[in-house]
Amino acid sequence: MFNKYDIIIIGAGHAGCEAAAAAANLGSKTLLITMNMQNIAQMSCNPAMGGVAKGQIVREIDALGGYSGMVSDVSAVQFRMLNRSKGPAMWSPRTQNDRHLFASEWRSRLEKTNNLDFWQDSVEALLIEKGVIKGVKTSMGVEFACDAIVLTTGTFLNGIIHIGERKIGGGRMGEKSSTGITEQLVELGFESGRMKTGTPPRIDGRSLDYSKMEIQEGDEKPEKFSFNNTTKSLTKQLCCWTVYTNSNVHEILKTGFDKSPMFTGRIQGLGPRYCPSIEDKIVRFADRDRHQLFIEPEGWNTCEIYVNGFSTSLAEDVQQKALQQLPGFEHCKMFRPGYAIEYDYFQPTQLKYTLETKLIPNLYFAGQINGTTGYEEAACQGLIAGINAHNKRKEVREFVLSRSDAYIGVLIDDLINKGTEEPYRMFTSRAEFRTLLRQDNADIRLTPKAYELGLVTKEQNDKVQTKIIDIQQIIKYFKTEKVAPTIINDYLITKDSNPITFRQLWFQLLSRPNITLKELIVQNNEIAEAMQQYDTETLEQAEITMKYEGYLQKELEQVDKMKKLEEVIISENFDYHKLKSISMEAREKLTKIKPKTLGQAGRISGINPSDVSILMVYMGR
Ligand code: FAD
Repeated sequence: MFNKYDIIIIGAGHAGCEAAAAAANLGSKTLLITMNMQNIAQMSCNPAMGGVAKGQIVREIDALGGYSGMVSDVSAVQFRMLNRSKGPAMWSPRTQNDRHLFASEWRSRLEKTNNLDFWQDSVEALLIEKGVIKGVKTSMGVEFACDAIVLTTGTFLNGIIHIGERKIGGGRMGEKSSTGITEQLVELGFESGRMKTGTPPRIDGRSLDYSKMEIQEGDEKPEKFSFNNTTKSLTKQLCCWTVYTNSNVHEILKTGFDKSPMFTGRIQGLGPRYCPSIEDKIVRFADRDRHQLFIEPEGWNTCEIYVNGFSTSLAEDVQQKALQQLPGFEHCKMFRPGYAIEYDYFQPTQLKYTLETKLIPNLYFAGQINGTTGYEEAACQGLIAGINAHNKRKEVREFVLSRSDAYIGVLIDDLINKGTEEPYRMFTSRAEFRTLLRQDNADIRLTPKAYELGLVTKEQNDKVQTKIIDIQQIIKYFKTEKVAPTIINDYLITKDSNPITFRQLWFQLLSRPNITLKELIVQNNEIAEAMQQYDTETLEQAEITMKYEGYLQKELEQVDKMKKLEEVIISENFDYHKLKSISMEAREKLTKIKPKTLGQAGRISGINPSDVSILMVYMGR
């Protein structure tokens, strides 16, 4: 063996980078092996982080001491808080990023991380003896010993790229695929499957006429992802544009359908239903005569343009001709065509909550290998796998987030209990407690846990504790101080809100839908004075807590109910075949997943509430 490490991370994509940072920061001697160090933290597809539900995940990663939020802030070219017009549960931060800066910032942060070494090579085999992890072997024939492995190979396992009738082996355009690992794992008893995803063409921005497109600016007051003071919000931003496809574009694209890998059956894997290719959209939504596209810059110092919404695997000549029918694209030149990629993944029901595999102890899977899609989904799994690989080695308690703790908890709970047949991406609708799991309170929810783990500093945790106390103080003020009709009625009338007839609590006024804390501060000197010591973030969070008190209370009651079922522990050796009154399918599912609690049993796909009741009665006996 060349060298010995505590933990080896295979792959430096979004999952691998977070896993490496977490394991090393916690103190494990960690090695990050990746095929090409120039491609650390590549954004394989769109140059953007966050967005609906994904932005919440980035903030959660940041609150837990991960790097994705800080890297996104430093490399951002535009910031937008999506869904501001909806309730705060839906507010979702999103950055457009400089692709090169994103990758170089990740690399630089990893290089500054203690306990972390790098090796550029492709892992060809995991060294496992009698079910025990011993190390890895690379394509150069080098062997490294280790106690635990985190496998984060993304779209690279037996990857095949499709463009028109051409098929090219590769994990991403211009990069080799990874072979040997799937076959070895299948031999060991793992179940693998095929999935596919795609990416749009990249365009030479100098060939576009932006005057024919609609401009999309960043937020007037850009915020940022990280709760940490080390990153700053943007002072200068780049803009994006939007255009619509038209019937000419659709007709040209249709001329390529007979050679399309999608429609001729050459692609077997299932693609992301919510992020379909343009050819898929034309077929599935045949009644629509146009589709919106977002024209996005790839960075500060490049003219390269990403055509968001135009993912395609049609032949390059068809792609170019169709693009030239878009407004402003009449003379467009491509830097590279869009393509589809098929790759192996492993059914995530083969994992524990810690992302350790059930079959091989100390082997962890994280990222796209688990059937997910998206940088954010991958990064948060890497973080959890890295933490748990370290904790298990140190015999420290498992680190598991519940569905009421974080979107990360929802994602892992869904994956390991329901599995997935198509690329899994996060949506706010997947989280039943989404009013609790907001982007603004990720620090309050998670930073104290990260401090306990040792992933954030005392200073960061103290900042959160102060924020918690400040919010309580603000709420106390609003729930005890009253305002007289003479002072507030003029303002209420301007807001079309009923005037008051007697002194009322400020809290009652703030509960009204069109009354905001910001305006009350402007309107009233007493409030302005009482609130002057608090920063905008704290004030916003206190306001949300007061305005949505009813919803939050209801969700907390549901969380309590869920926790009661989570407290009923099922023995690992429980024989589900004894439960003759539930279906054979349910018995087999329960035997396969081996739920730890009654709550988890109820979330396994195919398990009905009546099955849980029978299980509960049986356990009661
Ligand atoms: P990756 O980012 O793929 O990183 C894997 C890393 O592992 C790479 O660095 C690779 O070099 C390394 N590696 C692999 N095998 C080995 C080995 N044997 N030895 C050493 N190193 C190895 N996501 C979306 O949300 N929407 C999209 O529309 C979308 N489109 C995509 C289109 C394409 C063409 C591709 C390739 C990806 C797309 N994605 C999309 C997915 C997104 O890129 C991934 O979800 C995300 O990058 C997954 O992160 P990861 O860390 O799991 O893997």
